[in-house]
Amino acid sequence: MIELRSNTKAIAVGLGKSGLAAVRYLHGQGLKTAVSEYKKQITAEERSVLEQCGADLELGGHTPEFFADAELIVVSPGVPTNLPVLNAARSRGVPVVGELALAAGRIPVPVIAVTGSNGKTTVTSLIGHLLRSSGKQAFVGGNIGTPVLEYLLEPSETEVAVLELSSFQLDMAGAFRPDIALLLNLSPDHIDRHGSFENYAEAKRQIFARQGQADIAILGADDPMVAAKPVTTAGTVLHFGTQADSRARVEGQHVRLEPGFGADGTAEVYDLSATRLSSLVNAYNAAAALLAARTFGCSAEGIQAGLANYQPPMHRMTPAGEINGVRFINDSKATNIGAVQAALAGFKKDVVLIAGGRNKGGDFTELITAFRQHVRQVVLIGEAASELAAAAEAAGIGHQFADDMGDAVRKGFAAAKPGETVLLAPACASFDMFDNYEHRGREFMRCAGELAKIAVVGASIR
Ligand code: ADP
Repeated sequence: MIELRSNTKAIAVGLGKSGLAAVRYLHGQGLKTAVSEYKKQITAEERSVLEQCGADLELGGHTPEFFADAELIVVSPGVPTNLPVLNAARSRGVPVVGELALAAGRIPVPVIAVTGSNGKTTVTSLIGHLLRSSGKQAFVGGNIGTPVLEYLLEPSETEVAVLELSSFQLDMAGAFRPDIALLLNLSPDHIDRHGSFENYAEAKRQIFARQGQADIAILGADDPMVAAKPVTTAGTVLHFGTQADSRARVEGQHVRLEPGFGADGTAEVYDLSATRLSSLVNAYNAAAALLAARTFGCSAEGIQAGLANYQPPMHRMTPAGEINGVRFINDSKATNIGAVQAALAGFKKDVVLIAGGRNKGGDFTELITAFRQHVRQVVLIGEAASELAAAAEAAGIGHQFADDMGDAVRKGFAAAKPGETVLLAPACASFDMFDNYEHRGREFMRCAGELAKIAVVGASIR
């Protein structure tokens, strides 16, 4: 456990939600706090929290002078870990840690932690939902919603913490040890930050590194990259997927939990067909979540009830209306290649795909097969449009460019035949054109809604 001595100086680098939580937490522990932020401005709300904590602030960069007397440095997940000020601090022997390292040993309840390239938010929120529908008080947060250090300010009333964890957080996790850890899948993402796929995958695998014998490691065994290398854990490994040795077997729209979870020693079958988890991708997510929830002691009845009324988060294969037999689906959160491949896998060759944005270091040639099998045409936006056009050409499918989301939705609709789907699954980050993926998804839904109004008016005039 990292020692926190009162009146020593701690600097949070990066003032996102997690940086702010770190300042509040460290202030509460009696440390002198400070923030070094790359941006030139912060919000009035952020400023007021910093003032309440008496935190010093440097904006517009990270200077050696500001770090000269630091005794502890907490790096926010989005910040590069090799900044010169951080390297200099390390060489002086100053601990440079992430929020999980700080939280390690301080979380008063068992921890279920979820990582992977895709599906983290869905699985984390689903586990939380299943726990609650089984009557357990669960905190759900981490990389989504409330940061872990903010949770530690007031952890009372909870009996379990479910944390979504990113590769950035796991990269600096120190002694953090989850009781139940899940690695859902691995596909290239954030290569721009981690330098290589191997580094990125290794950061994710860190979720198991500190586990003890009583802990549980849950793995998506169908995923070739997960299966490529055995994980290092002292705990019990449980697989989910379609393989014979899976403890949670995905069988179409059912998940079968092998005997061993219930008292009577029989298998349990969970039917997803009438739930919002009926897609192939979500059957995997459900299998992972079921395994975690049942291992943690949720009842089969509580889980059934939870599955029935679970509502997946927005911008993940979210239906966005239908116009003249053409369906619109918003998968704006598909910011990497693996998510787009998974989204397309559920379709025949009946998709008009809207893609593009800022490439996060992905190799779009990996999309060629999925394009060829499932996509009739692509409509391309943003910085990566011409790179994606090359992949479309290699797949032998047509492409067109669009100026903005409205243009893309109109062109997508014009290209789609009745019975087909216009799918927003960009394979890219959104920041070249939008505030974030939510903004991009909302814009897609708004434009589809506008088009629907015009289509209705057009039909009534005719
Ligand atoms: P994350 O938090 O890991 O980004 P989300 O649940 O937010 O995961 O989903 C991100 C994207 O990945 C969405 O486009 C979603 O449709 C897709 N997705 C969800 N679950 C999976 C999965 N198990 N495998 C591949 N893609 C998935």
